[in-house]
Amino acid sequence: SLPVVAIVGRPNVGKSTLFNRLVGKKLALVDDTPGVTRDRRMGDARLGDLKFQIMDTAGLEDADPTSLAGRMRAMSEAAIRECDVVLFLIDARAGVLPLDEHFAEFIRKCERPVILVANKAEGKAGEGGLLDSYALGLGDPIALSAEHGEGTSDLYEALRDKL
Ligand code: GDP
Ligand code: MG
Repeated sequence: SLPVVAIVGRPNVGKSTLFNRLVGKKLALVDDTPGVTRDRRMGDARLGDLKFQIMDTAGLEDADPTSLAGRMRAMSEAAIRECDVVLFLIDARAGVLPLDEHFAEFIRKCERPVILVANKAEGKAGEGGLLDSYALGLGDPIALSAEHGEGTSDLYEALRDKL
């Protein structure tokens, strides 16, 4: 069966946009409201000659601060446990936020192959966030624009090396 790649990260970083781009259909709901994806979604993805299953995650829409960490951990744990490679997205325009650091710490502990993706990196507005993301300790980030399709060949090379 095909390897499974899970897209994880805090709400609104562009996970569903990337999912849609990799699947090539409008399967995931994309909205300006953070965290609109209600459940995990699986799709058949293709990138160049790579074929894999892609998993879109969310589940943080009821952002009760007291339960957020617990919900996030449960969702991410399930996704990360079932996948072969983690695509960890941050929003390069927003920079590295505490919730991103929380995620990064968890992912480091999971010891799964991970690709750090600084999304929304088109133009100059993403440069600061891209540089800050080196400090997450997850390797060199890939500068991506899921919306505009920039950085796709770097993502391809990273996935080819991990799959
Ligand atoms: P999710 O909550 O992580 O699934 O994020 P979504 O895919 O729903 O995207 C959240 C918002 O970010 C939407 O308004 C998208 O159009 C926007 N977005 C996604 N990718 C990019 C990108 O590469 N650049 C910019 N500027 N916006 C993006
Ligand atoms: Mg989503």
